[in-house]
Amino acid sequence: MRNILKENILQLKKEKNAIILAHLYEPDEIQEIADYVGDSYYLSKIACDSKEELIIFCGVKFMGESAKILSPHKKIILPATNAGCPMADMASASDLEEIIAKYPNAFKVCYINSSYEVKALCDVSVTSSSALDILKNVPNKEILFLPDRNLGSYISEFFPEKEFILWEGFCPTHERLTSEEVLRAKKDHPNVKILAHPECNKPVRDLADYIGSTSGIINYATKCEDEEFIICTEEGILYELNKRNPNKKFYFPEKMICPNMKKTSLEKVYDALCGKVDEVVLDKEISEKALTSLENMHKLGEMVLCGK
Ligand code: SF4
Repeated sequence: MRNILKENILQLKKEKNAIILAHLYEPDEIQEIADYVGDSYYLSKIACDSKEELIIFCGVKFMGESAKILSPHKKIILPATNAGCPMADMASASDLEEIIAKYPNAFKVCYINSSYEVKALCDVSVTSSSALDILKNVPNKEILFLPDRNLGSYISEFFPEKEFILWEGFCPTHERLTSEEVLRAKKDHPNVKILAHPECNKPVRDLADYIGSTSGIINYATKCEDEEFIICTEEGILYELNKRNPNKKFYFPEKMICPNMKKTSLEKVYDALCGKVDEVVLDKEISEKALTSLENMHKLGEMVLCGK
């Protein structure tokens, strides 16, 4: 039954000249049918560079927004329309305006996991993999970082000369993981390296041998000659880890599942291709301001903006 549905999706995708993108935390069967799998920013760039005009973006709301900001003339559809990100929801534009008034000299840095209204108020957006390179090129002493206090505190450790004002947001999926659980996993698998996402809290990060983004963790595990790893991030990453490293073993100290990432289903992807799901629509003025913060990510991070 599932296989027939998958075949129907692939056939319809061809007929509609669409492309399917999936985040690394999406369910296995969604990653299996996707043309590209990766982290949110990589996928937004693919959406922007692709020749297809219909993009089925399997992920959460802020990802669909970023893709739309970078490709305003394309049709971006998020199959799971109710898939939000609790961390992004922890920072509203109105709360941010109040903080900005309190710290007028601060350089405003938002993690890409934020709403486009928040991005529109910030000087630059960063990803977990680009944040350190970008911050190196920011001259301001005061940095307002939002919404993730864990990624913010991780970055701040590299810039002791700066003053960080950290928003009190966090990813509930990563925050739940405790250092005790990681130590237990280490006891069960001694001499195995711990690879952690910077959205994990500090006690967990302090135990890690490597800290990096989802793609960073996958690249590290793939290049490293070790055959076993303890992984501290959302379990969806296992699909790509196993695909690239069929002979290696990966252990998770605790069940780390983002319920929003699991809202996408094959049925919803099929409906999206059938035109039964509304496309992402953004306010033009806010979207243009948010684009500036994404463009600044490229300027300050010395990266290449898609198709530009
Ligand atoms: S894993 Fe965390 S940051 Fe990512 S979408 Fe889920 S809640 Fe948001």
